[in-house]
Amino acid sequence: MLKNKTYNRKKIVTIFFVCLGIFLVLGGRLVYLMVFQSDYYTEKAKELHERERSIKAARGRILDANGTVIADNKTVCTISVIHNQIKDPDKIVQVLSKELDLSEEYVQKRVEKYSSIEKIKSNVDKEKGDAIRAYNLEGVKVDEDYKRYYPYDSLASKVLGFTGGDNQGIIGLEVKYEEYLRGKDGMILTVTDARGVELDAAGEERIEPVPGNDLYTSLDMNIQSYATQLAKQVMETKEAERVSILVMNPQNGEIMAMVDVPEFNLNDPYTLPEGNEGVTEEKKQELLNAMWRNGCISDTYEPGSTFKIITAAAGLEGGVVTTEDQFNCPGFIMVEDRRIRCHKTTGHGPENFVQATMNSCKPVFMKQRMPDILMLN
Ligand SMILES: [Zn+2]
Repeated sequence: MLKNKTYNRKKIVTIFFVCLGIFLVLGGRLVYLMVFQSDYYTEKAKELHERERSIKAARGRILDANGTVIADNKTVCTISVIHNQIKDPDKIVQVLSKELDLSEEYVQKRVEKYSSIEKIKSNVDKEKGDAIRAYNLEGVKVDEDYKRYYPYDSLASKVLGFTGGDNQGIIGLEVKYEEYLRGKDGMILTVTDARGVELDAAGEERIEPVPGNDLYTSLDMNIQSYATQLAKQVMETKEAERVSILVMNPQNGEIMAMVDVPEFNLNDPYTLPEGNEGVTEEKKQELLNAMWRNGCISDTYEPGSTFKIITAAAGLEGGVVTTEDQFNCPGFIMVEDRRIRCHKTTGHGPENFVQATMNSCKPVFMKQRMPDILMLN
């Protein structure tokens, strides 16, 4: 009997400690979840209950010297699905894959994903967006935003640059003046219950977007267009790889045109010229960078004969030479131990300064006016 009592007590004590152990473990877990993991789960719950939809800010436009818009925005749509509001997933998969030209598996995966809002496709044409909205599918959201659009396609492409998927500048003026052009996105914040149904009582918080600033440039698209035609002609006749033309206002240094042909289409900047199909990703990026490169700014080139304008202007202004001064070009000139040849190796012979400039004659620009006595021979 006594033995039995001790046995029972032992049993009770054991059970007590087992229970205590279990409670300690559970309590510990609770503390861990509520105290240490609190931020993580709060965030998760918020993600599920609060639905954020951004309202894209209109990016500032870029204008030329005459006020012509050369980089503009057009309205496009972003299509998203809200998991908890979907009633007919099969229909949604079928409609969206057909309208958006996406594979059914791709749409299915996003429709089935348990998230508060899932983006299916952005930069969708407005007509397409309207068409999808017309289906009135529950759980499908069509939000409007902006996409960069360049009315002149390839004109001044390397100067203007273009924007990426998030409307951020990638090259050219678009990236240089990003902070002014960008603007500030707005937001629509809605609170939902656990099943994802929007709560009317909680209301909708709306932060309006701030549009970006317009950028006024000194470029003149008429001059740009003429200069581009000229550059293309020269490229063809000289069979050159590249031709650059810069038109500058000498009074203030404003750039009126900057051409670097071949240019590329700003509305389709990731397509390489024909004949580059099937290259590796790495090679493609290399070719794209080369295609976007603005030689007028990024490359150096010896000024060569164009610098004769500076020499001539300095000489005339300093009174060292007059337009009537006589020179003689024997086809070369010795400078120390170097024989520098004129491009006309047989020599231009006797010529005055105007003729020498017209001939782009090297020896004349390298020496001083001849003493009259030397002119005789
Ligand atoms: Zn010469």
